[in-house]
Amino acid sequence: MKIICVGRNYMAHAKELNNEVPENPVLFMKPNTALLKNNMPFFHPDWSNDIQYETELVLKITKQGKYIEEKFAHKYFDEITVGIDFTARDLQQYQKQKGLPWEIAKAFDASAPVGDFIKISDLPNKEAIAFSLQKNGEIVQEGNSANMIYSFAKLISYMSQFFTLQTGDLIFTGTPAGVGKINIGDKLVAAIEGTTLLQLEIK
Ligand code: ZN
Repeated sequence: MKIICVGRNYMAHAKELNNEVPENPVLFMKPNTALLKNNMPFFHPDWSNDIQYETELVLKITKQGKYIEEKFAHKYFDEITVGIDFTARDLQQYQKQKGLPWEIAKAFDASAPVGDFIKISDLPNKEAIAFSLQKNGEIVQEGNSANMIYSFAKLISYMSQFFTLQTGDLIFTGTPAGVGKINIGDKLVAAIEGTTLLQLEIK
């Protein structure tokens, strides 16, 4: 399986990092060794002083597809959860300044914790899915899929032009504003519509 991630899919987050809003979705990938499941703790690596959380809705692909038309995209996923796109912001800024690829800042081991998946059809409104992250009991990020620049359908259609989507692939759909640094001892709790799906301790 592979993990395909989208950068800059919420206007306010693009602005907080002083990024231009792109013409097309910005895509990058993480390998399967980035996956962190079952509320396992995250061990802070010693090569970064600024690992940041990016809380994102995550879709699970349920069937293989390529060149998927936007109008059929909904047939390729039916489950969702919330995940964290851990980013070593110090390494990323350095790589960006040098015009180098970001992999070491984004695709490192355990950089993609994901919560328990739920059926999208069980949600009150599949066009406006609210999610949030608490750090040590305080809400630090809140988002709603209604505020995405590119819809789920648009993302799936666009990425499937380049990458065949396969059963079990995960799509990280971008973070809203409010990203921030993690420290050893922090406890992160992420939820969709108020239901906790992911709990994570930083060790
Ligand atoms: Zn992200």
